Formats: sequence, C-alpha cells, structure tokens
Amino acid sequence: MKFLSTGLEQQRALNLYRTRRVLESPQGAEVVVEGRRYLSFCSNDYLGLANHPDVIGALQQGAAEYGVGSGAAHLVSGHSAAHHALEEELAAFTHRPRALLFSTGYMANLGVVSALAGRGDAVFEDRLNHASLIDAGLLSQARLRRYPHNDMDALERCVAGDGSATRLIVSDGVFSMDGDIAPLPALAAIAHRHNAGLMIDDAHGLGVLGAHGGGVVEHFGLGMDEVPILMGTLGKAFGTFGAFVAGSEDLIETLIQRARTYIYTTALPPAIAQATRTSLRLVQEEGWRRTHLHSLIARFRAGAKQLGLDLPASLTPIQPLIVGDAGRALALSDALMQRGILISAIRPPTVPQGSARLRITLCAAHSEAQVDRLLDVLAELL
Ligand SMILES: *Cc1c(COP(=O)(O)O)cnc(C)c1O
Repeated sequence: MKFLSTGLEQQRALNLYRTRRVLESPQGAEVVVEGRRYLSFCSNDYLGLANHPDVIGALQQGAAEYGVGSGAAHLVSGHSAAHHALEEELAAFTHRPRALLFSTGYMANLGVVSALAGRGDAVFEDRLNHASLIDAGLLSQARLRRYPHNDMDALERCVAGDGSATRLIVSDGVFSMDGDIAPLPALAAIAHRHNAGLMIDDAHGLGVLGAHGGGVVEHFGLGMDEVPILMGTLGKAFGTFGAFVAGSEDLIETLIQRARTYIYTTALPPAIAQATRTSLRLVQEEGWRRTHLHSLIARFRAGAKQLGLDLPASLTPIQPLIVGDAGRALALSDALMQRGILISAIRPPTVPQGSARLRITLCAAHSEAQVDRLLDVLAELL
C-alpha cells in the first residue's frame, strides 16, 4: 500500500496534514489537553451548554428511564417518547407544524437534498456551503450548480436559465468558516420568483441569532413561507448531539418516506433527546447567554480593530483571522498553544486555497478577561 504513504507524505509537505488533539476535560472556556490547561477559542459550544449541569442531569435521568441505545431505526421500534416530545418542542420553537430528528447534521443534509431532488433536477449551492451540503448535492444525482459566495445576481441567472423539473436552492444560514450571514430575504425572493425550493442550514445561527435564539430566520423576521426547509444541528449552540429539519406536514412526511439517512439508521439515544429538551429550554429561557456572547463578539472586534487586524464582517461567534498560507496558519496555532491558547488552523480543502485561517470562536462561557487575554496574545504574535 505504497500509495497511502506517498499520499500522506505529500499532504505533510503541503502543511495540510491533519492531526487530533486529545481532550481530557469537558468543553468550556478552558479545556485540558495532555494534562495542560488551555483557554479555548475553537469549539462550537456557543452558549456554553455542552457541560451545563441541568443538561447533564437530563441525560442521566434519560438514561435511567430509557436505557442507553435506542435499539432500532425510528421506523422500526427506535422512536421513543423522548424523541417525539423533542420533535414537538422543536416544531414549536421554529414556529412550524412539524420537525424531524436526524442522527447528525451531515446525515440530515444528505437525506433532505437526496429526498427532494434527483436525476433531471437541479440543486443550486453557495460555493462556501458546508461540505455536507455539497456532498448532499452530489449524492442526489441532480445537476449541482455552485454560485459565487452570496452572489445573488449570479444565483438568479443560474436559476432563471435552468429548465429542470425541480430546482432547489440550498445555503448555509451562517457560513461555518467565515461567520457571515447569507442574504436570506434575497434568497427567498429568488426562490419565490422562479418557483424553486429553498433550504437553509442554520447549524451556526440557531440559538445564537435572533432575540429568542431562533437563528437566521428570526434575525431576518422570516417564516416558513419564505424559508420552507429549515435544518438545524444540536451539537453546536444546543450543546448536545443530532440535528433536525423543520417545515410543513408534507415536507416532514416526505422525508419520513424517502430520506434514506433517516430510514436506514439507528435513532439517536433517547437520553440525548431528553438532554436536548433541557438545552432547548435553556436556549429560550436564558437570554443572558446570547446577550453576553454578543457583547464578547463586539469586544473582540473592537480590540482586533485597535490592533489593526483585518477581520471579515461577521456578527456571529465565528471570527476568522485569515492568514492565507497553510504553513503560517499552523505556525500561529502552535505559537498560540505555547502561550496557553487553543485555536485550530483551518486549511484547504475545508476553506479555499490560499485562505488558511485561524477560526476563532467565542462562546458565552468566556469572560471579558479571557477575550482580552486572547487579544494580548494576538498583539504579541502578529
Ligand atoms: C457542523 C455542520 C453540519 C454537520 O452537523 P453535524 O451534526 O456535526 O453532523 C452541517 N452543516 C453545517 C453548516 C455545519 O456547520
């Protein structure tokens, strides 16, 4: 298997080799890696719920009540009262008739796009969409057309010039590596004008944006008429695991009949659903988490500006420091680690060539002093 070692060597030579750090603590403002404590700015636990005592308690109680494994797929015998209650609560939270749980966001995206589009159809995707959405478009066997990032004129030309039977526009709500927000009103208007479907993946907006944490649709004041297919994940701001799709009765019933990643996989552990019911309550009731998070974002951006750092426009906890070269991003990440700060270098193919970056993420568990510490260290290194 010489080709494997050759491939790995090449990857290393390009500074694109990926390794894992072994965490010895829960997620939080501080984490432990190999016995050493670090200030962490690289998790998606935006509201600090992944280690919340009430969420942990709900998981324990859920395991005591339902056991650990769900034992089967939802359509066989794996759909528990905990899953069902969570789906109803997610539907209410998103102001939609129905919601459907999936085991992961990756699977939700594969399942939805391939259930709704196939040969003879077309799927339109932003170039910077998450890998799972791109893979979903490929898996569907529909024609996959990628438009330049947030370029609504290019999208409209593409959609208008396409005569496919079904046309589905798909976009991240908040772009996962850049932190910027998709122009939802324009996307909705294009979908409406050309009678196309619209799916928004709000993995990074839910819980974070909108006065009630309703995400990018709440941020823009849009409902199901404008965004008929809303996908959200539970492993980020919700601090647990899994994903869901929310929409009309017909959408959800269609997914139950046709989404292969829903049908042919084991249901999430019911205890995870119980834990998520508690985190969903905290997302709604503890608005101070969002308020604090947004004040940290403003503090970080103001401090970075004073340092002369060029951050892209982002109103979200994702604040990328784009350095360009993969080797430089790695070296910066190492230097930060030596100073007790954990931020991972994000390199191609996760981001386009020449746009390697430190993906800094803020979360409600951080203090102002911790954000200031990050700024001090960046000032020293840059
Ligand atoms: C994280 C992420 C996913 C995948 O969700 P998982 O539950 O982690 O599989 C999908 N879309 C976007 C935009 C994401 O950031």
